[in-house]
Amino acid sequence: MTGHENSPLAELYFAWNQLNTVCWQGALPPCALVMSNRMRRALGTAAAGTPPVISLNIPVLAQGDDFLFLGVLAHEMVHTWQYAQGRGGGHGADFRREMLRIGIDERSLRIRGNSPFHYCMEQRLLFRRSALPALRLIAKGPFSRKADMNFFYQFHQQLFGR
Ligand SMILES: [Zn+2]
Repeated sequence: MTGHENSPLAELYFAWNQLNTVCWQGALPPCALVMSNRMRRALGTAAAGTPPVISLNIPVLAQGDDFLFLGVLAHEMVHTWQYAQGRGGGHGADFRREMLRIGIDERSLRIRGNSPFHYCMEQRLLFRRSALPALRLIAKGPFSRKADMNFFYQFHQQLFGR
C-alpha cells in the first residue's frame, strides 16, 4: 500500500503546512506544489487560482539547503497570501511588509530573530527535518505537472486535514 507519506512530495507539503500554521495561523488556502526542471532564473513561481499553484525550480533547490527551500517556499506563499487577499502579485510594499512580518527582510536577505519564520527554522533544526533528501530524490525525475496535480487532489484530505 502506498500512502502519501511515502512520496517525497509529502515532505514539501509538510513544510508548507508548517509555514502556514506558524506564519499565518493556518489561514492560507491549500496550495498545489508543482515540481519543475524547466525554470530558467526563478527559484519558484506562484500562480493565482483554485488551488493556487506554487512551482519550484527543483534542479537548483536540490543543490541548496533546507533553508533555501524554506525561504523560497515562504516567498511564494506570500504571493498566495496576496492572491487570497484579492491583491495582485508582485514585490511591492504589501509584499515586502508581509515578508517582514513573517521574518524575512528581502532587501538584506536577513532573517529576523524571534519571528515566525525564524521559529520554523529552529523547529526544523530541532527535529532534524530537512526537505533536501526529498528535493534530491525529486530531482532525479520524472517531472510531470499532471502527476503533481493528481497528488494534490488525491491526497488533499491527508495533506491539509480539511
Ligand atoms: Zn516573487
